[in-house]
Amino acid sequence: MSTKPRPALLAEIKTIVGEGNFSPEGRHCHANPSSASEVSQLAICAAKHQATLIPVGNGGHSTPTDDLRPQILLNMRRMHHVLYLDPTSLVVHAQAGITGLVLEELLNRRGLTLGTFAPEGLGSTLGGLLSVRTPGKSSRQHGTLEDTVLGVSAVLSDGRSLHTRVAPRRASGPDFARVLCGSEGTLGIITSAHLRVHKLPESRLLAAFRLPSMGDAFTAVRLAMREEAAPAAMRIYDRAEAMMHLGEACQRDEALLVAATAGPTSLAACDRDLIASAVSAGGGKRGRDDIAVAWWERRTGKSEHAAPPAPNLQISATPRMLGPVYDAIVVTCEELGVHFRAHASRFDRDGGVLFVSVQGAQGAPLSAKSPKLQAIEEAAESAGAYLLGKPNASLQRYSDLLRDGLDPSSVLNPGVLR
Ligand SMILES: Cc1cc2nc3c(=O)[nH]c(=O)nc-3n(C[C@H](O)[C@H](O)[C@H](O)COP(=O)(O)OP(=O)(O)OC[C@H]3O[C@@H](n4cnc5c(N)ncnc54)[C@H](O)[C@@H]3O)c2cc1C
Repeated sequence: MSTKPRPALLAEIKTIVGEGNFSPEGRHCHANPSSASEVSQLAICAAKHQATLIPVGNGGHSTPTDDLRPQILLNMRRMHHVLYLDPTSLVVHAQAGITGLVLEELLNRRGLTLGTFAPEGLGSTLGGLLSVRTPGKSSRQHGTLEDTVLGVSAVLSDGRSLHTRVAPRRASGPDFARVLCGSEGTLGIITSAHLRVHKLPESRLLAAFRLPSMGDAFTAVRLAMREEAAPAAMRIYDRAEAMMHLGEACQRDEALLVAATAGPTSLAACDRDLIASAVSAGGGKRGRDDIAVAWWERRTGKSEHAAPPAPNLQISATPRMLGPVYDAIVVTCEELGVHFRAHASRFDRDGGVLFVSVQGAQGAPLSAKSPKLQAIEEAAESAGAYLLGKPNASLQRYSDLLRDGLDPSSVLNPGVLR
C-alpha cells in the first residue's frame, strides 16, 4: 500500500483548510485547521481516505509508529483564541492551540491566573497540556491542571463533536472530560476547554529552611500537609542538588527546603507558619531568605544561571514512602558506584515526585537503557515508588476497549499508548 497521501486526499484537505494552511511532506500532510468544524471535516476526510490523524500541539513530543497509512498532522496552533472569559464566575473558555503561557499572560493582565504552575511547564498548547498528564502542571494550592477543567470539547474519529457539560456539580455519569484528559489524542481531538481560573495572589512569601536530613525534610512536608498547609510550591534539595541548582553549600546529610506561599497576605503567612512549625518539629531551622529568592527566580525563568540538565529518573511516592524510596536510591547508587543528586517537589496530600540525576564514572548522565539506571528504578519500585509514565498493564485491556469503541478504525494517533 502506498504510504504517500493520494492526490484526492490532498485536494480534499486543501479545500477544508485553505491553500496556505496545508503542506504535503512525504507520507505526511500538515494541515492547520482554524476551527472545530474544520477538525471535524478533516476527521471525516481521514476516515474516507484510510489515513490517520495525528494532533500536534507545540510538537514537543512525537511517538514513532509503524502504521503505514498516510498521516494527516493536525497542527492546532491556529486555534489559539480565548472564546470567553467570565471574571465573575472565574471561568475561561479557550481553544486548544493557545499556549499555557499566552493564556496566563492574557489572564494576568486582568488580575487573574491559571494557578501557580511553573512557567517551564506552560510553553505547550492547552490541548497538549491536557492530553498528557504529567506532574509538572500541579501545585498543592491549585491541584493539577486537569483539576481546573470544567468541560472540554473534542472531535471524535468519525467527525462527531463531544461537549462535556459545563455546570457546577454535574451529576451525570462518568466524567468524559476526565477520560479525554491524558488520552494523548487517542480518543478524541480536544478543540477547546473551559477552565477554572483564580485571582492573582495579593502576596507571595518565600522562605528557606535547613533540615538535618532528607528524611527529616520529607517528614516536615508531610506534617505541614497534614495541618492543611497549601503552599503554591515547595521543593526539597539534597546536598549535591542544592549546590548544583542554587550554589548553596550544605553539611553532609543536610537538606534544603524552599517554599512559596501565596494568596491574601494573612493566609499566605499562615501557610508559611504551618511549614515553619513542621520544620521545627522535624529538627530544622529557618535559612536565609535569599536562598528561596534564588530558587523562585530560577523557577519563574528570571535567573541568569543556565538551567541544570534534566533528571534521568522521575518517580512518585506516597507521603510515607518518600523517605524509604530516597534511602533505597542512596544505597543502590553507592553499591553501583554511581553519583546522584536529587530534589523532590510537586507535593500534595497524596505524596510527591523525586527527580533524580544519576551519572556514571565520567560524570555523563546514565542513559535510559543503562542497566545501572534500571537497577536503581527497580530498587526504588521495590521500596514503594511508582515510575512516572509507566503504563498500568492491568488497565490496558479496558483502555483498549474504550478506544476500539470510539475509534474502531484506529484513525487517531495509532502509535500512541499501545
Ligand atoms: C508520554 C509523554 C510524557 C511526557 N513527560 C513529560 C514530563 O515528565 N515532563 C514534562 O515537562 N513534559 C513531559 N512531556 C512533554 C509534553 O510534551 C508536554 O507536557 C505537553 O503536554 C505537550 O504539549 P505540546 O503542545 O507540545 O503537544 P505535543 O508534544 O505536540 O503533543 C503531545 C501529545 O498530545 C497529543 N495532542 C496534542 N494536542 C492535542 C489536542 N488538541 N487534542 C488531543 N491530543 C493532542 C499529541 O498527539 C501527542 O500525543 C511528555 C510528553 C509525553 C507524550
